[in-house]
Amino acid sequence: MVVGPESAQVGTMPTCRLLLVVLASSSFCTASSQIRVRLYDYSGVSARTLARAKTVASEVLEAAGVNVTWANCPSPNCAGPAGPAVLQVRIISEEMARLGPKVSRTCMGYAILSGQFSTIAAVFYHRALDLEKGNLAGRSEILGTMLAHEIGHLLLGKASHSTKGIMRGIWGDQDIKAIARGRMWFTEPEARKLVANTTARIVAFAAVQ
Ligand SMILES: [Zn+2]
Repeated sequence: MVVGPESAQVGTMPTCRLLLVVLASSSFCTASSQIRVRLYDYSGVSARTLARAKTVASEVLEAAGVNVTWANCPSPNCAGPAGPAVLQVRIISEEMARLGPKVSRTCMGYAILSGQFSTIAAVFYHRALDLEKGNLAGRSEILGTMLAHEIGHLLLGKASHSTKGIMRGIWGDQDIKAIARGRMWFTEPEARKLVANTTARIVAFAAVQ
């Protein structure tokens, strides 16, 4: 989806190229909207790194008007019905990534876009560790930004890569430096869409309760 040809990616990092499986049937202001994220760590991320990454992702999404309630899974907090307002995000290993959708070796994650309300995404922890080796940002900040990026895909829908900000399809050194400075955000139009789409999910979720 969306990233340019490999030849155009010198010195840059594709954030995700996936995408997905589209069902045949598928077709302000920053008022706060609430989304729940069930987070599954299959990579053995340390508690400190995971906590910081969630904070980073929360700050990015909250700045756009979307508040996040996290649940570390599996746990009793992950019980109960899923639905449009409950996302499932996995932090997976390189080995697990090989078993998933076919993506570039340098891909950093993917979101499975299917139907009106997509809910499943994954980020590749080994890619966060790879990027950390450039000494431009720490793994926690990179992982958190990757989480916000993939959650962005789920909430924004198809064709959600941008030429600027956190939804850039390719991250170069300047983007990684922006992550380190805490300056990687959604654009204003993206923020409006995030809030509108999240509100629509909440309404749809309430309708089936
Ligand atoms: Zn992406």
